[in-house]
Order: sequence, then structure tokens, then C-alpha cells
Amino acid sequence: MANMSPTSKRSKTRQLLQQYGNRCCWCGKQMTKSERTIEHLVPKSLGGTNAISNLRLACFTCNNSRGNNLLPPRFMNSRDRDNFLDLARIYPWK
Ligand SMILES: [Zn+2]
Repeated sequence: MANMSPTSKRSKTRQLLQQYGNRCCWCGKQMTKSERTIEHLVPKSLGGTNAISNLRLACFTCNNSRGNNLLPPRFMNSRDRDNFLDLARIYPWK
């Protein structure tokens, strides 16, 4: 997140909270302020931008386990993949 200023980060967080609520976009859990992170759907390493449409809120655990992969590793097995697809319907990729 090096190239997002703290001010911009705060306003993006506020927009995302309004749009999606205080839930992790991967596991759906309610987040405390300290575990809430801004997630890039398309990772910056793959050309993703800081546009709001490419951003979601994710808990630290999911964000951290994902690294630069498209999905966090635990969504790669079939059961969690279904779970992810459910989540993706709630949080549609735009
Ligand atoms: Zn999570």
C-alpha cells in the first residue's frame, strides 16, 4: 500500500465500509479495526490499481495468506472454492 496516502486510505476504507459493510471479502467475518486491511482484488503485482472497484476490505489473516495469488490458498480446494463463489456473488468483481 506504499503509494496510497494515509488520507486516501482512510477515505477508501470509509467508502468500502459503506458499500460492503465491515466484513472480510474472503471469509465474511466481521473485522476489528486492527485486523481490517484494504485488499486489491487484482494484485498490484499483476497490474491492479488503487481504484475503488479493485479494492475490498479483508481481514489481516486472509490478506496475508493470499500474498500475490489471485485467491488465498485455502480457497483453492473445492469446498472453499464454492464458498468463495458465494462470497463473490455478495461482493461481485467489477
Ligand atoms: Zn478473512
